Amino acid sequence: MIYTENHSQLIHQFRNYFSSQSAFLFSKGRVGLYASIRALNLAEGDVVLMPGYTCLVVPAAVMAQGLKPSYLDIDPVTYNLNPRLLDSYNSSNVRALIVQHTYGVPCDMEAVLSWGKANNAAVIEDCCLSFGSTYQDQLCGTFGLASYFSGQWNKPFSTGLGGMLAVNQAELAEQIQTIIDRELIEPSLVYRLLVWIQIQLHERLVTPSTFQLIMRLYRVVSKAGLAVGSSTSCEYRGKLHPNYFMGMTSAQAKKGVAEMLTIEANLGHRRSIAGLYESQLSDRGFAPVSVPYQASPVYVCYPVRVKNKHDLLDQAQRKGVEIGSWFESPLHPKGTDLASLQYDIGSCPEAETAAGQVITLPTHRKITPPIAERILDFIQHHAEPV
Ligand SMILES: *Cc1c(COP(=O)(O)O)cnc(C)c1O
Repeated sequence: MIYTENHSQLIHQFRNYFSSQSAFLFSKGRVGLYASIRALNLAEGDVVLMPGYTCLVVPAAVMAQGLKPSYLDIDPVTYNLNPRLLDSYNSSNVRALIVQHTYGVPCDMEAVLSWGKANNAAVIEDCCLSFGSTYQDQLCGTFGLASYFSGQWNKPFSTGLGGMLAVNQAELAEQIQTIIDRELIEPSLVYRLLVWIQIQLHERLVTPSTFQLIMRLYRVVSKAGLAVGSSTSCEYRGKLHPNYFMGMTSAQAKKGVAEMLTIEANLGHRRSIAGLYESQLSDRGFAPVSVPYQASPVYVCYPVRVKNKHDLLDQAQRKGVEIGSWFESPLHPKGTDLASLQYDIGSCPEAETAAGQVITLPTHRKITPPIAERILDFIQHHAEPV
């Protein structure tokens, strides 16, 4: 890999922000997960525990290394893995636990860390949906051995795809560096160019009113291979693309540097838009999230449960109202072959129910208070509370 000034600057910013031992940059967040699991040197057949309410790329990264994913159901209030289920979980083969701070809501880390310690399982944080959230006044991403972040378009901030990994232990960081030195693939010229074009287009064209249209276009264009898409079709079946273990391009790192320089404004904006949703939802007949422990979430999007999710999303699309749908399946998105990712239908009932009910309200910078009010009006008139 050829590293530029942009790469070193972003690494520096990341390490500073999370006070981490080391930071690494990749083509995607999942690649950071893959690297951290690889560096743990687990044995074939070892179990990696994760919430049954995540992206398919998470178990895919685990399975590709001959490890076995196992899914824990979520707490219906926080949407995070339910720590009460950890105690009754019985497998002596669990070697790692992936903890995801869903929507930006911090997981109950005290319970998780003590279970990890008692069971000799490495804790890895999935921070793809959380940036700046704190649990008991400590930043998410600083608890586990390692934490991975996504720079995909609709994550807390975007590097135009891309992924970051913060590592909190010297030994693990050394292992990861060794794997990177040996195996990390340099992005090709075509890839660098496509990503660069996408970053330019995204900055200029995507607004709340064009969001639905552009998402549809993007899916079509990336299926046709004309844009860099998020997941490759083999990942839906737990296999990896040959170029999977790829580094971040310099243009992505440059975008990341700019994002880190304005991170406080970004997080402040998200807090204030989420605060607006939170303060108005109950008056409009919907339940806000109430985290039952000391935590301060920065919502990447605000979850609301409705009875008529699919009908509502169709209407939102027709009316050009920006509403998201995370997660559509226990292993997002819909259409994932759950069986080949070793997910048994019915095994995480709370996650399956949530996937059928939760819509997500955007908090990003292009959502102004009047747009947020419009989204709330839309929900009030068209959504059926659960
Ligand atoms: C987006 C996401 C990922 C994967 O991030 P990529 O950068 O697309 O690899 C993993 N976990 C969660 C919870 C995510 O939301």
